[in-house]
Amino acid sequence: MRRNPIEKDSNVSSLEVKLNNLEEASALLPQIIEDRRFLHQHPELAFNEFETAEFVSKRLGALGYAVKSGVGQTGVIGLSELDAAKLVIMLRFDMDALPIVETNEVAYKSQTEGKMHACGHDAHMACGLALAELIMRHREDFPATVKLVFQPAEEIGSGAAAMIEGGVLENPRPDFVLGMHVWNEKPVGWLGISAGPVMAGCDELSITIEGKGGHGGVPNLVKDPIVAAANVIISLQSIVSRNLSPFESAVLSIGSIHAGTVSNIIPPKVEMLGTLRTFSSASRELVLQRAKEIVENVSAGMGCNGTIENRGTMPPTINNPQVVKVALEASKMLGLDLVIDQNYRTSGSEDMSYYLNEIPGMFIFVGSANAEEGKNFPHHHPRFDIDERCLPIGIALLLETAQGLIGKGS
Ligand SMILES: [Zn+2]
Ligand SMILES: [Zn+2]
Repeated sequence: MRRNPIEKDSNVSSLEVKLNNLEEASALLPQIIEDRRFLHQHPELAFNEFETAEFVSKRLGALGYAVKSGVGQTGVIGLSELDAAKLVIMLRFDMDALPIVETNEVAYKSQTEGKMHACGHDAHMACGLALAELIMRHREDFPATVKLVFQPAEEIGSGAAAMIEGGVLENPRPDFVLGMHVWNEKPVGWLGISAGPVMAGCDELSITIEGKGGHGGVPNLVKDPIVAAANVIISLQSIVSRNLSPFESAVLSIGSIHAGTVSNIIPPKVEMLGTLRTFSSASRELVLQRAKEIVENVSAGMGCNGTIENRGTMPPTINNPQVVKVALEASKMLGLDLVIDQNYRTSGSEDMSYYLNEIPGMFIFVGSANAEEGKNFPHHHPRFDIDERCLPIGIALLLETAQGLIGKGS
């Protein structure tokens, strides 16, 4: 990055007549840092974001948004009624912290032992509040209804679904949904803006193989579920290598297997747990279908009864190519020498995917690491921290993209 976004520059962008998003976002940095650090000191876990929600609600209310709290348990919606607008833009920020003991020695360290904003959701909320302010300040240039969504429980993968159940995608239904994540794998000045799947979908699989137990020394009188399970595990590994297109990717891992007690008893049952990661609905369905066939038929071939159950699903996070195109244009308007990665994806999962399943939109990654300052620990680490100078970049990009979408839609 050539220029520091905090520095003012009078000829930064051709949009100056309307508003210069990066300059304005950068001017708000002291407030953004104050908000982020306050929230960092007061972390709350999934579906317990009570004080966090109140903090956010009060600020949105003071800015003139119609505030609805308690959506999906602890979620908050701030709705602008600025215009009988053609478009409704939803901006989503997550609120929950993690059960981690923070080991950073900073003035803004978590004040609640055992809880920590170690993923950056504190920063996301601070960005959301800054966006709320900038949008309200420039309501004439922003002829759209804005729905600011502060979502609980992202870390346990349940918050988005709870908010959708609570009606977040209705009255009014968004035309576009945008979101961001600070990203410590990359330095400040890097942006991941990719079309298509950017984060993996995740399925938690439970497999049970039932046979007929008996004496280990007389296997001819039993139906051995352990041998069946061994064959099932080996056969499952053929799905990615033999059934999936070489141009698709998926991961299927068995992480837990339980059966038996002692050496000379063949148990009646084997229980296994596994995780599946995929980047498209088509590959997910293919792998799930083949897994079912293998579990049932390989088990049956060995005289056992195999069943597979899906205990939890998170869809892949898929960015709409048209929205990404608008965001890429928007990134040029920021007037910074940013590194734009258009091919970035990660096998982590995000429940932003639930919104993107229904509404066109995108989720971007905002490089937030600063190795020189020791702010490059990975997400979910007890020493996770970010270089807050990345935040105006994320804010300006979302704002610029939203404006681009409004321009296209009107
Ligand atoms: Zn996280
Ligand atoms: Zn996160």
